[in-house]
Amino acid sequence: MKYSISTAIICLSVAFAGNLVSVSAQAKNTISDDKFRQLDEILPTPNVYRTASGAPGHKYWQQQVDYDIEIKLDDKTQQLTGSETLSYQNNSPDTLRYIWLQLDQNKLKRGSDAKLSKSTQPLKKVTYRGVRNMIESPKFNGGYEITNVTASNGKPIQYVINGTMLRIDLPKALKSGDDTEFKVEWNYQLHEQKVLGGRSGYEYFKEDDNYLYEIASWFPRAVAYYDVMGWQNKQFVGHGEFTLEFGNYDVKITVPSDHIVAATGVLQNPKKVLTKTQRKRLSKAKTANKPVLIVTVDEALENEKSRSTKTNTWHFKAKNVRDFAFASSRKFIWDAQGYQHGNSNTMAMSFYPNEGNPLWEKYSTEAIIHTMEQYSKYTFDYPYPVSISVNGPVGGMEYPMITFNGPRPTLDKKTGDKTYSRRTKYGLVGVIIHEVGHNYFPMIVNSDERQWTWMDEGLNTFLQFIAEQAWEEDYPSRRGHAAKITSYMKSDNQVPIMTNSESILQFGNNAYGKPATALNILRETIMGRELFDFAFKEYAQRWKFKRPTPADFFRTMEDASAVDLDWFFRGWFYTTDHVDIALGNIHLYTADSQNPDTEEAWQRALDNEKPEYITSFIDKGQGVRTQDKPELLDFYNEHDKFTATNAARNKYNSSNKKLEQWEKDLLLTQSNFYIIDFENKGGLVMPIILDITYADSSTEQLKLPAEIWRKNNKKTSKLLIRDKEITAIAIDAKWETADVDVNNNYWPARPIKSRFELYKDKKEDMMRDYNEKLKSADEIEQEEEENTDS
Ligand SMILES: [Zn+2]
Repeated sequence: MKYSISTAIICLSVAFAGNLVSVSAQAKNTISDDKFRQLDEILPTPNVYRTASGAPGHKYWQQQVDYDIEIKLDDKTQQLTGSETLSYQNNSPDTLRYIWLQLDQNKLKRGSDAKLSKSTQPLKKVTYRGVRNMIESPKFNGGYEITNVTASNGKPIQYVINGTMLRIDLPKALKSGDDTEFKVEWNYQLHEQKVLGGRSGYEYFKEDDNYLYEIASWFPRAVAYYDVMGWQNKQFVGHGEFTLEFGNYDVKITVPSDHIVAATGVLQNPKKVLTKTQRKRLSKAKTANKPVLIVTVDEALENEKSRSTKTNTWHFKAKNVRDFAFASSRKFIWDAQGYQHGNSNTMAMSFYPNEGNPLWEKYSTEAIIHTMEQYSKYTFDYPYPVSISVNGPVGGMEYPMITFNGPRPTLDKKTGDKTYSRRTKYGLVGVIIHEVGHNYFPMIVNSDERQWTWMDEGLNTFLQFIAEQAWEEDYPSRRGHAAKITSYMKSDNQVPIMTNSESILQFGNNAYGKPATALNILRETIMGRELFDFAFKEYAQRWKFKRPTPADFFRTMEDASAVDLDWFFRGWFYTTDHVDIALGNIHLYTADSQNPDTEEAWQRALDNEKPEYITSFIDKGQGVRTQDKPELLDFYNEHDKFTATNAARNKYNSSNKKLEQWEKDLLLTQSNFYIIDFENKGGLVMPIILDITYADSSTEQLKLPAEIWRKNNKKTSKLLIRDKEITAIAIDAKWETADVDVNNNYWPARPIKSRFELYKDKKEDMMRDYNEKLKSADEIEQEEEENTDS
């Protein structure tokens, strides 16, 4: 057999080819298994309203709905009575024969779909509040009483109520480009929020016999009509919030004259409803560098004792908003501080009862301003004239310019002292950032909340995380860091993010935590901050005061960054796969020099590394025949089997002569050719981030893009040619990809550390332990949902 250089190279390449052959032999990706297949066949076809780049098309349109409302709050009966004139501008290319209004309060009617379709969990461990809600909710008969619907000429208009939807049958079809006006009158009974829950309601303070009202979804609101959905008149059963049109509001709110009112919009009649001192303080607050009290603690406590029988009408106007909410009480302390930045000129204001202090005076208004500062960096300048945080019964909920936030200190009834826990403090700062942040998503970037919870909650929770991290170093954010989502990602009871709001399982993790974390991973690990921030801001700029869909978001993120993200959105948003990339074998190849002396020596060294056969090991020193009869030994005993022959040397020398110098150099290369095998155990394809340590203690970081999985998404291998010896490898050492099992990420492997607990063998200890284990995923989810209402 002739030696030639080609055999030498073949030797080396056989090793690779063998590896590659084995890889492609496993690759039997079907279409459904192709994790890099483009999303086009899933996303809607682009058109003149929404382009393939993810921007509004040249014929994008949306409706405009303006409201003129008068509302009266009865503090004795907790009833609201109102009337509205609704002006509907039909900007669609279609003729409309009817207009749908949403009556979200009808969710609280006895026998509503929301009440009857609510399924249940086993009653093993339920909070007191939970049981009270179970008992009271079916009994309460809320919902609208619609007393009148009339045209602008005063004539009654035909209408039909179906659950939470009201259809106005227009006397005359509304043509494209035309507008129409009609009037609706109604009343309804407010509910005690702490008993029945929800996103609005009142709180009763027994100690001073006062009410605090947080009023939302309180007037019949036009249902969104848009190019993708037509009328978004899916019934309201609880989770899918509101899908609304932008418009201008003129609202007159009549309340007891000793009430303070906070509302969406700008107060039109301060001279009528505020004292001269209050107005002076307000104008001072505009340029103050810390919150100025408009109503002080003492004034609020004094006000609590008042029982005026007179009323006051607070008049507000709000431009270009999709909704309107307000709060009213005798108990409000009120502070304010102006915020001017870029195009923003805003009054940040907080309204809270004394029960909220000392927490609220310290953090609320500061957190509002912090939110606007941070969010505007990644989106657009806050465009509205006020931004309000109100403390009341609602745990956390957002409306244009006004938010309801729940956390309060706890009162020690013995000492009268108020203290707050770490959890409450960060809970308050976090919830204010979150709810004020909702001004951006979905109050301004007006996504369809009834369809997609993640589009506002996920995007907003992502920016909340960034804003929290900018509040203080190592802020204890609940959501955002990749490692915090892993236990959810590997849980069983899951649906994809792209699931309708009402069908989501593990609501908080699915619609808030997972999308927020996915975006953070895109930003930090996959795209990098520069590309991500530009694309995300482009999305916000393109769709502010417009209505985007998921496709518009996915497309814009790619369009503005030149990063193919279809695999990422496909995996993270359309499946319940998780990340678990494991380190497999590490192969070390070196070049075969073809020099028989070198190669035989190499084989000998390799042979010496093998352990001795067990029989040889035990037999050692027990005496053998050749010991007694050395004449039996010959040439082969003197030279082992790894001895080069002269014939081999001659062949090598003659074939070596035919090589070019670079080929000879390659034969002598001392480089290590490492092939590292990886296994995808979780399903999600992700970049492989390697931390490599060498024998000389130096280190190297290497990021292999997710596309390394494109030919086989279950197994892949990577060649690294290094002169130095590798002594250790770690995958995702910074825990940035949400890898659910990091124990298979290290070579050499590491011990898995944890603690065991010792306890006395008492029955109750065992029972406690046992009960802990019984706590099911469902209960955890229930707690989660109680904590996350908005
Ligand atoms: Zn939210």
